[in-house]
Amino acid sequence: MRTGVYDVAIAGGGPAGAAAAIVLARTGYRVLLADAGGARRPGGESFKVGEGLPPSARHLLRELGALDRVLADGHRASPGTLAFWGGDAPHANDFLFQLHGEGLQLDRRRFDASLLELAQAAGADIVRDAKLSLVAQAEGTDIHRLTLRSNDAGALVESRIIESRWLIDASGRPATLARALGAARSQHDALLAFHMRLAADDDSDRDGRTWVEAVDNGWWYSVLLPTRERLIAFLSDADLIDRRPLLTRVGLWAALAQAPRLFAYCHEHGHVPSSQARGADACSSHLERAASGADRWLAVGDAALAFDPLSSKGISSSLYTGLRGAQAIIECGNGDTGALSRYADHLRDIHRVYREQLIAFYGMEQRWPASDFWKRRAADTVDLHAASAAQAWPAVEKQPAECG
Ligand SMILES: Cc1cc2nc3c(=O)[nH]c(=O)nc-3n(C[C@H](O)[C@H](O)[C@H](O)COP(=O)(O)OP(=O)(O)OC[C@H]3O[C@@H](n4cnc5c(N)ncnc54)[C@H](O)[C@@H]3O)c2cc1C
Repeated sequence: MRTGVYDVAIAGGGPAGAAAAIVLARTGYRVLLADAGGARRPGGESFKVGEGLPPSARHLLRELGALDRVLADGHRASPGTLAFWGGDAPHANDFLFQLHGEGLQLDRRRFDASLLELAQAAGADIVRDAKLSLVAQAEGTDIHRLTLRSNDAGALVESRIIESRWLIDASGRPATLARALGAARSQHDALLAFHMRLAADDDSDRDGRTWVEAVDNGWWYSVLLPTRERLIAFLSDADLIDRRPLLTRVGLWAALAQAPRLFAYCHEHGHVPSSQARGADACSSHLERAASGADRWLAVGDAALAFDPLSSKGISSSLYTGLRGAQAIIECGNGDTGALSRYADHLRDIHRVYREQLIAFYGMEQRWPASDFWKRRAADTVDLHAASAAQAWPAVEKQPAECG
């Protein structure tokens, strides 16, 4: 790590933080990125959920100079989706007929690690297994002071103060820095995901499509991972389910019987559970204010806008907001004082369009009018400032790590 004041400090090394770091470092900014993700810890979870990369993400990877690297990384091609949604007949969406070609089922750890390596190669200082937290603004200056705490196997090994002119919150759904800076996070639902990997003795399962199946109190999805394991995930609202059995391998496997097509497919191919069951926060949320020119910070990725996994928008949006957020800082540095507020307005527009699409998609499923899960979604509105719809939702009480 360098000494002295950084131009930009980034908290979080998922796709959003990495994309911002690549753009800024290539422009010559002094960048520090810290990532608290514990993938490298001995005994740490090597699997990260969130694996479907839609074909449209290719142009973002190209813009980042990352497409060739990602395509060479051994992810699995995804030819489309198969949805049992709104009726018993399957709906197939074949990427073959789309502009951008195939999607990818990612090994998320490998994908995230490759983007961080590209950021490092561009000149960013990357500190893995380390957490950034805000201390204060250095007195009499416009410089932020932060604590950088590095861990090894979960134990604190070093704590130091670093200084930076700009902050980027890329910490994912918790949005820790933005909230510490006073930004409010609005949550639109209480969706939780329970997921587990399956394995089979033979390799007869070759369906690379994303399966989606609606059930009376939520929906399931499933994908074939690059490791040949099959991921299954159940999504429902926090107050509608008993999460204890769903966080066990036996309980989640038994619950799959709710989704008859996916259940039959997994059994036909001899799948059995091969990992622990885990939980994750999957709610839609956004920051009321995603950037502040006066305080020289902005949020990117899930920290700024978090999407329902049904939309498959999370990774693309994280790459996009990482890129655009970094460009807004560069424009600001070039004297364009409106760049930050334009960035924040743009995010508000993205969020409005996303909400409209999500409501329309959930509205296509009408089979369970008496179910609270579907009733809530049928009553949802896009008026982001009328809190009525959001207030009907219970809060998600736990963050992902505590859930699993
Ligand atoms: C069940 C589920 C399925 C999903 N499926 C898909 C899908 O198929 N397709 C898709 O596109 N999206 C999917 N998503 C969403 C996708 O995973 C996220 O949108 C994406 O990971 C967000 O990227 P990010 O960089 O904003 O944050 P993250 O990937 O969450 O990365 C944030 C990082 O910041 C670190 N961090 C947090 N606080 C600090 C701190 N203070 N200092 C330093 N580091 C910190 C965290 O440890 C983490 O490593 C899914 C999500 C869920 C829950």
